[in-house]
Amino acid sequence: MFNEDIEIAKKARLNAHSPYGKYFVGACLRCKDGSVYMGCNIENHGIQSICAERTAFVKAISEGKKEFESIAVVGAPMGEEPSTKCLPCGYCRQFMSEFIDEDFKFILEDNGEIVTYSLDDLLPNRFDF
Ligand code: ZN
Repeated sequence: MFNEDIEIAKKARLNAHSPYGKYFVGACLRCKDGSVYMGCNIENHGIQSICAERTAFVKAISEGKKEFESIAVVGAPMGEEPSTKCLPCGYCRQFMSEFIDEDFKFILEDNGEIVTYSLDDLLPNRFDF
């Protein structure tokens, strides 16, 4: 399933809109009911851009999803294939922490190897109340 989600993320990445940073990111968010939501980064010249991870979460939450299992993320400069792990930015880590628990997995690919992280791995001592 991890490999499948990486492939879906790579497909989502092709839809990225990144004329400024020229860095294309794709995400595959898997819900606990088995449904998946794709996301890509969408830049904008006038207002704040949105990352692939938040795109996927916003799509899923707006469709009524509340329980999430994992997110696969891939990224690379435009015209290159993803090969090293693309870690979520700090903004996305805090955003996602609102909706996930400790069992949630971040799935990344690094030189052909699947690596996973937990929320505590990526955002220890986070803001919470
Ligand atoms: Zn981000």
